[in-house]
Amino acid sequence: MSKIIGIDLGTTNSCAAIVENGGVKLIPYKGGEFIIPSIFAIDDKGNELIGHEAKRQWQLNPRNTVYASKRLIGRSFASDVVELMQSTVAYKMKPGERNDVLLDVGTKNFRLAEVSAKILNKIRGVAQDYLQEKVTRAVVTVPAYFTDRQRQAVKDAGKMIQLEVVRIINEPTAAALAYGIGKNLNETVVIYDLGGGTFDVSIIEIRDRVFEVKATGGDIFLGGLDFDQTMIDYVLRDFASKYGIDLATDPVAMQRIKDLAERTKIDLSARESAPFSVPFVTMTPQGQPLNIDFTFTRKMLEEMTTPLVDRSLEILQRVMTDAGMTPDRCDELLLVGGQTRMPIVQKRLSAFFGKPPSKGVHPDEAVAIGAALYANSLEDNSNLRLQLLDVIPMAIGLERAGGEFHVVFPRNAAIPNAKAIEATTSYDGQTEVAMRIYQGDNPTVAHNELLGDFLFSGLRPGPAGTARLEITFQVSIEGILTMSSRDLDTGKQMKTTVRVTQH
Ligand code: AMP
Repeated sequence: MSKIIGIDLGTTNSCAAIVENGGVKLIPYKGGEFIIPSIFAIDDKGNELIGHEAKRQWQLNPRNTVYASKRLIGRSFASDVVELMQSTVAYKMKPGERNDVLLDVGTKNFRLAEVSAKILNKIRGVAQDYLQEKVTRAVVTVPAYFTDRQRQAVKDAGKMIQLEVVRIINEPTAAALAYGIGKNLNETVVIYDLGGGTFDVSIIEIRDRVFEVKATGGDIFLGGLDFDQTMIDYVLRDFASKYGIDLATDPVAMQRIKDLAERTKIDLSARESAPFSVPFVTMTPQGQPLNIDFTFTRKMLEEMTTPLVDRSLEILQRVMTDAGMTPDRCDELLLVGGQTRMPIVQKRLSAFFGKPPSKGVHPDEAVAIGAALYANSLEDNSNLRLQLLDVIPMAIGLERAGGEFHVVFPRNAAIPNAKAIEATTSYDGQTEVAMRIYQGDNPTVAHNELLGDFLFSGLRPGPAGTARLEITFQVSIEGILTMSSRDLDTGKQMKTTVRVTQH
C-alpha cells in the first residue's frame, strides 16, 4: 500500500506534505518550491499546462487560463456565484447538460471536477517524483464552508485519476492539527483562515489528541482575490476618468493590471507605499501609447478594503456567538492563509481579541502539514490516535410546502450524525416518495443550495396516509450526506436514487 499524503488543494495555490521518518515535511517541487499554483491552461498549440507552467503564460493567454476554479466547483450554472465569477475572469463558462458549469478553454469544454482532477494529478506527480513511489491515496482539505456537493465534487475529482481521497477534512481543522498535535494541550483556539479565495473561521477545543470543532463559518467568496479586485476596480476607474478608456475589455491589459495589483498588495504589507506602473497598457484612437502610473499607499489599500475586513469580522463574531464564546476565552488565535499577512487584518484581530495572534503556525503551510499528520494517523501501522469531531457549516434539510426550508441538521451539528424522520403517502396507490434536499441557512429553500432530489420507491400501494416509512439522513465524518429509507410495516429497505437536477 502506498503512503497517504496530505494535500492542501487551495483556490490560488496548492501544496502537499507527508510524514517521513517520524517528521512531517512539505513536499518540494523541482526548484525546491513547495507551492503549486492552482492554475490550468491550454496554450496555442493545444498543450495542457498546470501549475507554474500555466501561471507563467497567464498574462499572454488569459482567455484559456483557468484560475480560482475552486470557487465554482459544485455550483449550478444559474447561481449568482457563476455570474459574479464570469464578470471577473477572462475564461468563459457555459452550462453543462445538468446545468452544471463547463469551462470553455482551448477547443474543449471541461467540467470543474476535471480541472480539480488535473491539479490534484499534478500535485500527486510532484509527490511521486519526490517519494519515488506511486501515490494512490490522499487526505485532501476543503474550506470548512464547503457544502455537501462541493465535497462530493472533490471526491469525484480524485476518482477520475484513481487517487483515493481517503478523507476530506476542513482547512481550519487541519491547521489546528498542525498546531496542536504532540503538545498535550488543553486550549480553545480560534482559527482565522483568509486565503486566496476563501475565508473560514473555526473555534476548536483541543484536549491532547481530541480536536473538537465547536462552531464554524465562512464565505467562499472572500479572499485575497477580492482584495486584488478592489485595487483593480480602483485602477480601472482612475484610468477611465483620465482617458475615457475602459480597460476591462482588453484581456491582456487586465492580466497585467491583475498581476501588478497582487504584487503591489503584497509589497504594501511590508512598506507604506509602492509604485503602480504599467507602461504602454493601451493606445489612444490616434495611436498614442498610454501608461498607468501612480503610487498606491498602504493607507489607500486599507481604506478601500475595509468592507472586506469588516465582513470577515462579522462572520467571526457570528461564529463566536454560535459557539457561546467571548474573546477573552480564546487561548490562541491562529492565522492561516497568505492574506492574513496584511497588517490591518492583524491589527483589527488584535483589537478584537485584546491580544496579538499566535505565531504557532505557518500561514501557508499549516493546512498541508495538518492534512499530512492526519493522513499519517490513518495509516495501518500508525500509533497516533487522533479524534476529530467536526461540524457541518450550514443547515441541511428538506423542502416543505410553499418552498419552506425544514431543517433536519442545524448548522454546527456535530458529524458524523444521523437522523430519521417518518413520512407517509399523500394519495391512494402511491408507491414513491420524493424529497428535495437543500443546504443553507435561509428559511426559504430558494436561497439555499440544492443537494439533490431523493426518490424512494418500492412502497406497497394502499390508501393515502396508511404507509409508514422512515427516512434516514446520514452525514459522514467528511460532511457528505447519504439517505436511505425503510418501510416501517415490512421493515423492507426502499430503493433510493439521487438526481442532482440543478436549477
Ligand atoms: P493562500 O491561499 O493561503 O496561498 O493565500 C494566497 C493569498 O494571500 C493571495 O491572495 C496572496 O495575494 C495573499 N498574500 C500572500 N502574501 C501576502 C502578503 N504578504 N500580504 C498580503 N497578502 C498576501
